[in-house]
Amino acid sequence: MPIRLLAPEVSSKIAAGEVVERPASVVKELVENSLDADATEISVEIKAGGAEYIRIADNGCGIAAGEIESAFQRFSTSKLSDADDLESISTLGFRGEAIPSIAAVSRVSLVTRTPDAQSGVGLEVDEGTVLSKESHAASPGTVVTVRQLFKNFPARRKFLRTTATETSRVQSLITRYALAYPSVRFQLSTERSEVFSSPGSGDLREVISAAYGLETAQAMLDLSAESLEEEDAELSVSGMVGPSSVDRANRSYMSFFVNGRWVQNRALGYAVDQAYRGFLMERRFPVAVVNVHLSPQDVDVNVHPAKAEVRFRQENRVFGAVQKTVRRTLTDHSPVPEMRHSAAPQAHSATGSANAPFWPTAPFATSSPAPVPHPESPETLPDQTPYVNPPVPKQALPVLRVLGQVQYTYIAAEGPDGMYLIDQHAAHERIVFEKVRADARSRTFEAQSLLEPVSVELNPRQEQLFGVHQELIAQVGFGVEPFGPQTYLVRSVPAQVAEGEPGQIFRDILDSMDEGGGFEAWEERAAYSIACHGAIRAGKSLSREEMSELARALEECDQPNTCPHGRPTMIHLSSSHLEREFGRR
Ligand code: ADP
Ligand code: MG
Repeated sequence: MPIRLLAPEVSSKIAAGEVVERPASVVKELVENSLDADATEISVEIKAGGAEYIRIADNGCGIAAGEIESAFQRFSTSKLSDADDLESISTLGFRGEAIPSIAAVSRVSLVTRTPDAQSGVGLEVDEGTVLSKESHAASPGTVVTVRQLFKNFPARRKFLRTTATETSRVQSLITRYALAYPSVRFQLSTERSEVFSSPGSGDLREVISAAYGLETAQAMLDLSAESLEEEDAELSVSGMVGPSSVDRANRSYMSFFVNGRWVQNRALGYAVDQAYRGFLMERRFPVAVVNVHLSPQDVDVNVHPAKAEVRFRQENRVFGAVQKTVRRTLTDHSPVPEMRHSAAPQAHSATGSANAPFWPTAPFATSSPAPVPHPESPETLPDQTPYVNPPVPKQALPVLRVLGQVQYTYIAAEGPDGMYLIDQHAAHERIVFEKVRADARSRTFEAQSLLEPVSVELNPRQEQLFGVHQELIAQVGFGVEPFGPQTYLVRSVPAQVAEGEPGQIFRDILDSMDEGGGFEAWEERAAYSIACHGAIRAGKSLSREEMSELARALEECDQPNTCPHGRPTMIHLSSSHLEREFGRR
């Protein structure tokens, strides 16, 4: 075939595919336009997950009647005038591509009015062809309606997921923008109901409450701004992070904004991970809203088709600022993190020097202990490997004889080669985890009815996830039914749940079903949540039968020596070590 220039109507559709992938990408572009127009109220309505209908209304600056057609022309924008402007972009949009791209694959109506105009003007465009332009009664601002997205693009339509999934993507997006712009009132509704709204009061905590629930919002810590050095006056980090008591099963509760733009950026995620080291267990994630503000020249936003990624001119500087600010906030508010460990096992050396720990942990401790955060020097982060779960082959435990319970937390037991101290919570976590995973894989879940149903409040995101994963949730043993607005009744829980608050476990499982949850199969993720909340706690008195049963169940585990988070389940005091300590040899 000869090489030919594609006709403009063809090329516009090809490029459109890059920007307009699914309803959420349409919503993203239109909401960004509303924010660029300085709107303080943005309301979004979608039907059929946005595939049939998307309507976005704002009270922003509007478009002058004479310019409305230009908004539909490719590469026409009011936000850049020359190439130099690309070097310092302070608006969310800048390419002038969104409206024409959307209009090329749907039927768009745009009604707009500037504050000083007498009336509004409306334009109807169907797959790029202008159908009509007439004046309209309208209040100041802009209303864009997008109907029948990809109607004539079956290949693209095929990639759309279920209504619930597409709705949930839109919702996640609106929630993020609400977190980034607490002064803007956001509303999102579907044909069924309103699914999210933020008050627009300017108070981030109120937005967090709307997005993640009141309890989480109340616990959040303000990121202290003072912690940055003076030389970084041009770089600021603000927002809120959760204390270590507010942990989640996945990363989706972490949001990063750079100059008001929601971004995916590995360095920022990593900076927060580092800041939380020692505060959270392996595979648990914080709730965090992190705003980075820096000079527009120091960040390149023109690197990704959907503008979702950014590149920093000095990545280390941004990384350091985020990590320091988050770390300082955490250490200021919780000087004694829950995971504080004695440093003793680290100092262990084979020769048994004076510094050798009393309790050698070999061969069962396969992981290094969590670093101990030091309140005075939050910057010095020991470069340690966090808890790891090495793919160890099944390591059989000897048969253990239980001696008794120590501090209602540890089980003392005797084996063929000395003594063992078992952490009852960690050990039970391992047992529950392996059992749940096995049950899930063989689809033999047992449910256990609760004497009284427990009511649980879900945040909008969790509600969406419940809609999507209802069957899986039932499969793992949860009996749940809707009760009131955002409220559900939990009637049964997985039989493996010995303790813990059923509502909390249910919410955690939902979170673990979120796409951002990692790469494990959902069985694995559900098992983590159930084990984490369902295992018996430290401080609980156990009968001798219970202890023997626990030791026996641990013997049967594939990886008995660590809990699912990688902490040791037990320490071993070998006969030879005992002999050495007592000077017997
Ligand atoms: P870009 O945002 O990159 O400039 P768009 O195609 O998204 O490109 O929009 C084109 C132009 O239309 C914008 O530059 C802006 O002037 C105008 N516009 C779009 N949406 C709105 C809105 N909601 N309020 C005011 N002006 C708008
Ligand atoms: Mg735009």
